[in-house]
Amino acid sequence: MKEMMQRLRHTYVSGLTRPRQWRVEQLQQLALLLEEHENDLLEALTNDLGKSHAEGWLTELGYLHTDIKHTCKQLRKWMRPKRVSQPMLAWPGKSFLQPEPLGVVLIIGAWNYPLQLLLSPLIAALAAGNCAVVKPSELAPRTAAILARLLPDYLSSEAVRVVTGGADVAQQLLAERFDHIMYTGGGRVGRIVMEAAAQHLTPVTLELGGKSPAVVLDDADIKIAARRIAWGKWLNAGQTCIAPDYVLVAEGIKQDFISALRQATDAFYGDDASDANDYGRIVNEKHWERLVSYLDQGTVVHGGDYDRQTRYLAPTILDDVALDSAVMEEEIFGPVLPVLSVPNLASAIEFIRERDKPLALYGFSASARSLQQLTEQTHAGNQCNNDTLMFMLNPELPFGGVGNSGMGRYHGKFGFDTFSHHKAVMQRPFWFDPNFRYPPYTSFKQKL
Ligand code: NAD
Repeated sequence: MKEMMQRLRHTYVSGLTRPRQWRVEQLQQLALLLEEHENDLLEALTNDLGKSHAEGWLTELGYLHTDIKHTCKQLRKWMRPKRVSQPMLAWPGKSFLQPEPLGVVLIIGAWNYPLQLLLSPLIAALAAGNCAVVKPSELAPRTAAILARLLPDYLSSEAVRVVTGGADVAQQLLAERFDHIMYTGGGRVGRIVMEAAAQHLTPVTLELGGKSPAVVLDDADIKIAARRIAWGKWLNAGQTCIAPDYVLVAEGIKQDFISALRQATDAFYGDDASDANDYGRIVNEKHWERLVSYLDQGTVVHGGDYDRQTRYLAPTILDDVALDSAVMEEEIFGPVLPVLSVPNLASAIEFIRERDKPLALYGFSASARSLQQLTEQTHAGNQCNNDTLMFMLNPELPFGGVGNSGMGRYHGKFGFDTFSHHKAVMQRPFWFDPNFRYPPYTSFKQKL
């Protein structure tokens, strides 16, 4: 590890990663890897998470291709120094912000979108001109193995290294000095990462999770709201950091909403989701057991079937959950959806404000005013109104949490900025150097 770090530092100092052309070439190489090994990568995702190829394409490979295209197209603009105004006292001269890379960065990925969550930060880090070490999650072992095999064939191994392994390997990496660390995963490990980073005063971006609520008001289009919530929740079998964790629905429409949710779920996956090609599996037995234990914490009004052998858990809707039960206190991160009723918008807002700031918040209402109220009176890393997850598709929007759901952000230019230092530069010519700012500060000068 020491030798790897030395070599990466050497590469960084050599200036290899600085030219825009090098950065673009690396990104194009990454696109080529994704293209030439598309099937192997999709297969690895199926093996790790039961992800269908269509879903793997939509949420991982397709996403990454768009990310690369957007980054390559915008990079010249992002790298340009940004002029700012010059105060009169410093005339003549100019001031600007000069983006510069940070150096050698560490990216620690999570297992639920094992390609996207590792490679999208890498795209940003390379675009910003850094060397990078990437550590895929050991909980998606096939995807980690294929990345470890392929990345060195396509990207400069002088500048990018893949290190595979579990917590022990992550700890060894964290003992090294990096110039930035981006970690995606749960808050418990997030704290460990931040503590280790503090030893070197290394800045961190923490992409964490939490309980992301969906609020459905009585003027919402119930059918569409249910369909969009069902899609956002059951995708990747609920193992999505921004999946709606639970629903707060207006009292008067609760039963209609639940039946719309059931209909949407059946329309997606039929009567038995275990037969559906597009429905995933739980990543490992430990998580499967945790999720199955939630089924006793409310009334199962849809789904509830499971199979340990295949780590299957049906899309499950829970009614009558107690607020102090584990399913309402922990991040669910699986296909279990508690539906709770609230009397009105104000009580939904109060409910959300009493809890940790979520990573995502979803509001459903026909009233722009109510949505604005929800937006203004709550905290969340990201908010999407009248839909779920779709904000991820807009590279002009940053992605990241707030409070317990994380710190820092990325995607598009925001990712470039995260992995850059925007150096403040003022530049002055020699030809004008009046005496008035230099001592002695005579009474005449003081009047100026
Ligand atoms: P995980 O188990 O894959 O862990 C994430 C990474 O941390 C892995 O690479 C792992 O090796 C490493 N790690 C584990 N233990 C460690 C230790 N002791 N020291 C150092 N590193 C260690 O992922 P997870 O934590 O199960 O992920 C699920 C959580 O991640 C959920 O809370 C979810 O909401 C969140 N998440 C957030 C985002 C986001 O973009 N904000 C995306 C996906 C997941």
